[in-house]
Amino acid sequence: MSSTRKVRDECGVIGVHSPDAANLAILGLHALQHRGQESAGAASFDGVIHLHKAMGLVDAVFAETPHLPGSWAIGHNRYSTSGSSTSINAGPFMQPTSLGPVVVAHNGNILNAAVLAGWLRDTYGLVAESASDSELLALLLRAAPGDTWTERIRWMASHARGSYSLILLAGERLIGVRDPMGNRPLALGRLRDGWALASESCAFSLLGGTPVRDVQPGEILEINAVGPAPAGRLEPTRHAFCAFEYIYIARPDTMLAGRAVHSVRRAIGEQLGREHPVLADLVIGVPDSGTSAALGYSTATGLPFGEGLIKNRYVGRTFIQPAQAERERLIRMKFGALPLGGKRVVLVDDSIVRGNTLRPIVTLVREAGASEIHVRIAAPPITDPCYLGVDMAQRGELIATRVDEAGMAAHVGADSLHHISVDGLLEAIRGTRGDTCLACFTGQYPLRLESEQSEAVAEAVTGAVQR
Ligand code: SF4
Repeated sequence: MSSTRKVRDECGVIGVHSPDAANLAILGLHALQHRGQESAGAASFDGVIHLHKAMGLVDAVFAETPHLPGSWAIGHNRYSTSGSSTSINAGPFMQPTSLGPVVVAHNGNILNAAVLAGWLRDTYGLVAESASDSELLALLLRAAPGDTWTERIRWMASHARGSYSLILLAGERLIGVRDPMGNRPLALGRLRDGWALASESCAFSLLGGTPVRDVQPGEILEINAVGPAPAGRLEPTRHAFCAFEYIYIARPDTMLAGRAVHSVRRAIGEQLGREHPVLADLVIGVPDSGTSAALGYSTATGLPFGEGLIKNRYVGRTFIQPAQAERERLIRMKFGALPLGGKRVVLVDDSIVRGNTLRPIVTLVREAGASEIHVRIAAPPITDPCYLGVDMAQRGELIATRVDEAGMAAHVGADSLHHISVDGLLEAIRGTRGDTCLACFTGQYPLRLESEQSEAVAEAVTGAVQR
């Protein structure tokens, strides 16, 4: 699908209560564009729901949109982790309910989506129009018993298995819900003239606001006309925050658990430097996601950090899976290398999935004159696919399932190649095996895989079919 990105994030969601809420929500979607580039949508409420969504980047989707009036709005950027890439699957999703209409923006992946779809159809006569698991959550809220949103959300949560950070627009209120694992992020922010919820706090800065705190795992948080108010909790379970948010997905200027992601990535790079030092003249990062870790590696090893690769920010995207020759051409369009005349270079990248993106980058650095190239990776080897909302690759495509680090070095054309350890990563992100999802590095998934789960999950886990 997308051009040279190794890992595709799932979705970005935002909710705003403020005068001119929809314009602010759409502005905030720009800050969350990295979390989903296939479609965008927004809905506002001023007594009735106004909804606009379409395929494309935020700029294109909202270029000629009529004003969405009201002081309550939500927005959604989507990359499909379930359902295909067509406009019918674009979010957010609206459903009528006996409590009034609800609009749902969802970041995550529901594992038992296929089973739920059949059950909702057979039991309640509710048929999803799309293949999106986000619509199923909206249908669950419609089918749910209960006279309050909290009761309905709890009922929804008792049926939906998987990861979800949700924002609901329900009349004159926004409701943020984070699954009990806290797998995907969700934050509360203060705006000059209101409040906001968003996948990442970087959206608040763009709106002139400030982050207040993370929504906690299992928390239901309502924003009403008075301000934010606790609205209940979901059944607790083990926490499993996605380690990949720190490594790659979240923007460096986002705050997660009170720390800027950039600082966490520096700490990861420092740990990588302590674990895998090497004699070299220069440390460079693969921009942009390898840069913070490269700085940390430089700090820990005392080797100078420098610019080596320059990113061309104007290269367009493609939605076809490129063949290797095309991928190499795209990498050359995307990156240029500064002269490295005879230097021994440490090249820091965030992760290796298939190894096919890194190989042309190593070639570029070699052609720029590097005499040695030592690759250091700010993630442990990726050995298992993700089924909680991050699209990486099927198991058979993951290079770490086929070769060891020496084999990877040979594959990408480097003189050496090493990854940070799982324990080193945990130390840098200040997580534990009990509160962090590490499944793509360890194969130990935080949710049990059960037979009633959807085909898509079985496929993801066995790597039998590419999503
Ligand atoms: S499997 Fe990996 S990418 Fe998926 S949620 Fe867990 S840590 Fe994140």
